[in-house]
Amino acid sequence: MQDPWIPLQYPYIPRLKDNITQDMIPSKVIDLMAAGTSQWDIQKLQQLFINEDAEAILTIPLPIYLSQDRLIWNDSKDGKYTAKSGYHKAMNRITPNIEEDIQTSTDNINPANWKTIWDANVPNKIKIFLWKLLWNGIPTCEALNFRLKTEHKCPHCHQEEDRVHLLFHCDFAAKVWFLSPLALQSRSIENTNFHNIWSKLISEMQELDRSEESIQLFFFLIWAIWKARNNKAFKEVIWTIEDTVQVAVKNVEEYQTALTLNQQILSKLGGNRQRQPTCRSRSTYPDHFVRISYDGATNKEYKFGTVARVAKLANGVVQGAESNIFRGIWDPGILEFLALREAMRWAKMKGWRNVIFEGDAIQVTDSVNSGNCSLATGWGICQDIWHLKDFFEETMHKVVRFIKGAHRKVLYFTFHFDIKATVLRSSSEAEYRALTGLTCELQWLPLSPATFNSATAKLRPLNMYRPS
Ligand SMILES: [Zn+2]
Repeated sequence: MQDPWIPLQYPYIPRLKDNITQDMIPSKVIDLMAAGTSQWDIQKLQQLFINEDAEAILTIPLPIYLSQDRLIWNDSKDGKYTAKSGYHKAMNRITPNIEEDIQTSTDNINPANWKTIWDANVPNKIKIFLWKLLWNGIPTCEALNFRLKTEHKCPHCHQEEDRVHLLFHCDFAAKVWFLSPLALQSRSIENTNFHNIWSKLISEMQELDRSEESIQLFFFLIWAIWKARNNKAFKEVIWTIEDTVQVAVKNVEEYQTALTLNQQILSKLGGNRQRQPTCRSRSTYPDHFVRISYDGATNKEYKFGTVARVAKLANGVVQGAESNIFRGIWDPGILEFLALREAMRWAKMKGWRNVIFEGDAIQVTDSVNSGNCSLATGWGICQDIWHLKDFFEETMHKVVRFIKGAHRKVLYFTFHFDIKATVLRSSSEAEYRALTGLTCELQWLPLSPATFNSATAKLRPLNMYRPS
């Protein structure tokens, strides 16, 4: 318990509640689990640790089979040390107050701003960039100078560069905004607080334009300004003000075209539905195999994840379906591993010894096939999966077919009862829909599918929990 072991919170040791002293906590992590089970003792966790850390512990999935403890490097995804992650770690040690700094800088983020980002009609890479931007997590000169004690200046005008300068006050940025179809006068915003400027611009654009097209272009322009800046700083490639506006406008067009294209494919598939209802279930697999499709979905707001699976014979006849809820676990990566583990346990229980497991997470399939777990926090679950593998005479682990189009649009086929194709903004949404599609049909028929169909609809965990 004295070792740093929680995956999320620096310094990775759970913080005790006020009335709890060191001698009241068990010496080993295993003593925080409910005896003889692979479940956390939730009551005990809530008793001993502050809520935030108790919750962080609950996000750790527990393996069913006992395996050896091991050391992992907490600052990389697969738990292995890399020079890059070591460097970041070392920099944070030197300037540990950076965390405080980030904390105070995000205090005044309006929660609506996060929603605007996640709901925006832009590619995920831009959403993630904007998210970092709001957290002050992008390497502006200010951030670099603070961390590295260097003296970088704005590559365009050689003044001090923080987020406000970079995006709004720099002469280059100001000209881009003014030349753009938004015709913003970014320097006339007197406020120097980034979040105030941000909120003000967003709300102005929302008032002006309910179609959200302005916001979309706004986000693409921010991305282009950042690209232009990096090109100049690192590649010595100069994007003029006109180029930068052009890039943003073109990116919007391309993105919209890709969306429309996918919609056309979708409606085409919809039209063929009657004639060719089960193109996926015409299996090329040997007859003695059972094919199990599994999937996981998470609900961050209510902090839980679900996994589900459906089994079919080679002729497409459904053999059964099942799902489970994991409360406290909502990391999509871990859920995929859990989805496979549960699918394998189920198959074992059913006595199926020749099984094809199909999921849509390449990471999981790769980990299983290579015997090398690519996700440190899923390691225990990987151990279970390898352990379970011994039961089967023959298994295959496959990634289900998906079509990648432009701009990482994913066309995902779910194939329960009849073919469905859904155009999705991100693969995590694909998983979410795949699962809700599956669970709606098989498990939770009383729930109106409309509840699930809206991308913004939130699952209500109490409604969802219907023991099979
Ligand atoms: Zn500048």
